Amino acid sequence: MATRNIVKEGDSVLAKKCRPVERYDEKLALLLDDMIETLKQAGGVGLAAPQVGILRRIFIMDINDEIIEAINPEIIKRSGKVRDVEGCLSVPNRWGYVTRPKSVVLRAYDRNGNLYERKFTDLGARCACHESDHLEGQLFTALVDEWAEPERE
Ligand code: ZN
Repeated sequence: MATRNIVKEGDSVLAKKCRPVERYDEKLALLLDDMIETLKQAGGVGLAAPQVGILRRIFIMDINDEIIEAINPEIIKRSGKVRDVEGCLSVPNRWGYVTRPKSVVLRAYDRNGNLYERKFTDLGARCACHESDHLEGQLFTALVDEWAEPERE
């Protein structure tokens, strides 16, 4: 496992639509392992493949100390609305208010190519939506209705 460099806002890779994963192979497993290492080291909640420069439909989340891997993900149900502060590892030190669903149902494949459906609420729902947006080339900054005060050192 190795950590990968996190691409920052302004890099055109973050504005591109990602292509589906076609092969559930060793290369995919290696990428996922590296993404997990990178996310843990950065102390984030979620990480999408384009954030490490890979234009494929993959993201991971670290919710309540559980790693969720989502390959070719789709949000098939959204309910409720919550407005809360959100940030992104590609947009350091900027936090803003974004309205997201209170809960979502995520349909995705795991690294072995098995399809699953799972419901997420609150942070998990927010993160699943945020990471799904990355796969469409969209950053949360486009959805912010009010910026939060930056944290002071
Ligand atoms: Zn992000």
